Amino acid sequence: MQPETGGRPATHRRLILATRNAGKIRELHAILDAAGLDVELVGADAYPDVPDVKETGVTFAENALLKAHALARATGHPAVADDSGLCVDVLGGAPGILSARWSGKHGDDRANLDLLLAQLADIADEHRAAHFACAAALALPDGTERVVEGKLEGTLRHTPTGTGGFGYDPILQPLGETRTCAELTADEKNAISHRGKAFRALVPVVRELLG
Ligand code: IMP
Repeated sequence: MQPETGGRPATHRRLILATRNAGKIRELHAILDAAGLDVELVGADAYPDVPDVKETGVTFAENALLKAHALARATGHPAVADDSGLCVDVLGGAPGILSARWSGKHGDDRANLDLLLAQLADIADEHRAAHFACAAALALPDGTERVVEGKLEGTLRHTPTGTGGFGYDPILQPLGETRTCAELTADEKNAISHRGKAFRALVPVVRELLG
């Protein structure tokens, strides 16, 4: 059994990640491991009875906190949740929190990307700045909360390029790159991505709250 830490029960060393995406679990696990944190990271799949939370917030941070608090309350364990999307300057930050459902169909990556490209058809290269943003929240069952953020800045191509990644990856070319995110390897993308940055920023938070 794990020793007690700072008066907190050893069960606090289990950390639930609010996702069913194995890639996200692997990415956070690798980051916590590399930081030497002895935490058992478990995906939300381990708690099939806990219902998904409606993302009713209007910022990435609000949605990440909603999901993390709901999971922490329901499981009795600390929980991490992330929320992310693409923010386009000329659209005032849209699609933003609506990135997954921009075309009206939740999770239809191709339709979302096609609609965005059509909307930006007349916008010249120098006005096509955009960034991926991610908020990662950690919540404890007692209501303690922290939230950190990460960004990946770039410009939007006119046509999709590359077959890797997901979502808007084929049109976002990171600053300083000649390739789109969909042409980077998973390791290259994780090293610079909004989610990678937010997850790495969680390390001191996990160390502070879970010991
Ligand atoms: P989620 O919060 O991670 O589920 O992301 C919401 C939506 O934002 C996704 O459905 C994608 O459309 C977009 N998105 C977030 N992160 C990325 C990324 O790394 N690449 C491409 N699209 C992303």
